Amino acid sequence: MSKLVSTLYNTDADREVILFAEQRKYMYGRMMGIISKLWHEKDPVGAFTVGPCYAQVEAYGNYFDLVDKLAHLSSAIQDVLTERARQDAKWGQQDHEPMAWMGILGEEFGELCEAVNETYFNNGPEARAKGGYENMRTEAVQVAAVAISFIEALDRRYGE
Ligand SMILES: [Mg+2]
Repeated sequence: MSKLVSTLYNTDADREVILFAEQRKYMYGRMMGIISKLWHEKDPVGAFTVGPCYAQVEAYGNYFDLVDKLAHLSSAIQDVLTERARQDAKWGQQDHEPMAWMGILGEEFGELCEAVNETYFNNGPEARAKGGYENMRTEAVQVAAVAISFIEALDRRYGE
């Protein structure tokens, strides 16, 4: 049993459930699906949500509706969120002052401008390699992700 699990769940009933689950590791996905559906029948709003997840469900509604909404996010938004996660993994939480953010966002916007310019103008094959759909899209995603990171930093610095 993991140390975290044994710390959080240490009653006899907890140990009984953990033993049951540990003996059925091969069917975790099925168990989660069935338990989630059963819980949903009992409590449509709070289905299978605990901790930070519950606040999202309270704010935005039914768990399954939320999952459906997430599944239908456009590929553009999904790519921006993936880029945000990549940035955090690479740099950690960024808490710069707004002026520093202007430099970071400006650099990314400049890279987007370059990708657009090298698509629009013909500056030779080496420059052209920096343009095109893929490069424009990649840089646009990075601009959007940095803008979101800036918003998050603003909220931490000035928000309630
Ligand atoms: Mg860039």
